[in-house]
Amino acid sequence: MPRRSTDRPLLGAHMSIAGGVQTAIERGMKIGCTTIQMFVKNNTQWRGKPISESEASEFKRLRSESGISPIVVHDTYLINLCAKDKSILRKSREALKDELDRCELLGVEYLNFHPGSHMGQGESEGIKLIAESLNLIHAQTPGYKVKSVLEATAGQGTALGYRFEQLRAIIDLIEEKDRMAVCIDTCHILAAGYDISTEAGYQATFEEFDAVLGLNRLVAFHMNDSKRELGSRVDRHEHIGKGKIGKKGFGFIMNDERFRNIPKILETPKGEDMKEDIVNMRVLKRLMAKQ
Ligand code: MN
Ligand code: MN
Ligand code: ZN
Repeated sequence: MPRRSTDRPLLGAHMSIAGGVQTAIERGMKIGCTTIQMFVKNNTQWRGKPISESEASEFKRLRSESGISPIVVHDTYLINLCAKDKSILRKSREALKDELDRCELLGVEYLNFHPGSHMGQGESEGIKLIAESLNLIHAQTPGYKVKSVLEATAGQGTALGYRFEQLRAIIDLIEEKDRMAVCIDTCHILAAGYDISTEAGYQATFEEFDAVLGLNRLVAFHMNDSKRELGSRVDRHEHIGKGKIGKKGFGFIMNDERFRNIPKILETPKGEDMKEDIVNMRVLKRLMAKQ
């Protein structure tokens, strides 16, 4: 991996695809992102219009011109890989397979998704179902390069993935383990009880992550401050430095050599002109120690 200069960190935000998938790249370029996250279809519907070959090649051309890399795709919010309702489970599996197809067509590196909500079936049953779903989907998509990325969650409701051990337990049941990776959402893990707002808590959190999952599984950060307190299990994103993590907590991540080449992506509230992203990225860059 090439060393990345400190004034050009791997930093970006979730970008809209209103107007076509390639517009996410255009928007990212406009505000100086070096990495982005995007959807690959309408995120509130099960089915989306297919991406044409010409759209895909335009996307790839623009992307290589922009230098934006890597790209993280976030899946549709409707998907639940351990749904209790059998028809929702079936639709979820079809939809995630379709998302992988879209990612592969566009040549993006990562498909990020929430593990799933067990809806009262119990945590261990949920974990088994998630792994079963992923094994089925991987079997239908042999040789795909895009990685399946489990996002650490806040553990709201019956959502799984709020302990590193749960992510480990899912990966343990996956046949093609080299296709699996993990994304840390800073808001989610603080709400889940991992105190990254203090230096001791930060160090302990990543020691634990390394011991349980291995830092080599970590491929992305969602950089969100948290409106709600440590251990609240409530997922509410806040602008950088305005929440319970605070600038200090984000400073630890921005200056951690281990994470230099890991994309750091905002999912904080914003308007169409993206000025909030510009401000949040500036806040994060200013936290970097001058060398
Ligand atoms: Mn998410
Ligand atoms: Mn997230
Ligand atoms: Zn969230």
